[in-house]
Amino acid sequence: MQISRPELSITDTLAACINGASRDAYKQRLVMAENEILRQAELYCRLGEQGTLYQITALLSGSSEDPVVLADLKKSELIRLYEYYLRKKKTGRELYDTLLGSSDKCPFCGGLGRPRNLDHYLPKAFFSQFSILPYNLIPACRDCNMEGKGDAYAQTQEDQILHPFLDRSHFFEQQWIFARYIQEDSDQPGVFEFYTSPPSQWSDIDKARVNKHFCEFDIGARYSVKAAQEISDVFAQRRLFSCVDEFKRTNLEPVIANASFANYWKRVMYIGLLNTL
Ligand SMILES: [Zn+2]
Repeated sequence: MQISRPELSITDTLAACINGASRDAYKQRLVMAENEILRQAELYCRLGEQGTLYQITALLSGSSEDPVVLADLKKSELIRLYEYYLRKKKTGRELYDTLLGSSDKCPFCGGLGRPRNLDHYLPKAFFSQFSILPYNLIPACRDCNMEGKGDAYAQTQEDQILHPFLDRSHFFEQQWIFARYIQEDSDQPGVFEFYTSPPSQWSDIDKARVNKHFCEFDIGARYSVKAAQEISDVFAQRRLFSCVDEFKRTNLEPVIANASFANYWKRVMYIGLLNTL
């Protein structure tokens, strides 16, 4: 799901880090790096809106374990801006908390979980120049946190998961997750299988990207768990109606109409049910 772009900018997070720095020489080096940091932030935003962040080359450990990445700042120093100055020190922590609190739903799984951490869309181990860029810091739930999954990043356009701040709106406004309702015994609630079926007019790359996103965050299995918890209630409600159309009109259609976004698990489930009953 899409969430609104952070109100804080790279200028804000960098200023907090500079204010938090205790040594003047270090402050000065951060000030000297500011233009380059802003330039990198603009590049990130432009490529993110095009869906081509994969074009940014990852920093791989070559001859030096800790190379200079930007201005005269080393990889370890850029990571420390995030780890220490933004996440731990008081001056930065307020901004960290603001970014984390900007959404009460995890955008990667469509709100199955609540955000617990900020997750680097481009992992800081390979893209340390974006370690404190608000657009790169996504509020994510524990199950979706990518950094627990070995700092993976996309190397092709197809392999990119959706970017909740920057990706184009059709990913969030059009339905590409569907549910199949399978009921073997008419006296018992059935089960739901969720699958992807992106609109046929989408490009092959966009279709591949939502499939990747669906698999990466295990959305099929996680949606099925939610649906299994819901179906008994729905089934009990259904028994109160002698007319299936009336049941659809009063119990299914309002849920579908009021869902917060196109691929919300409950909306997808209820559409699956509506089309089967
Ligand atoms: Zn999540």
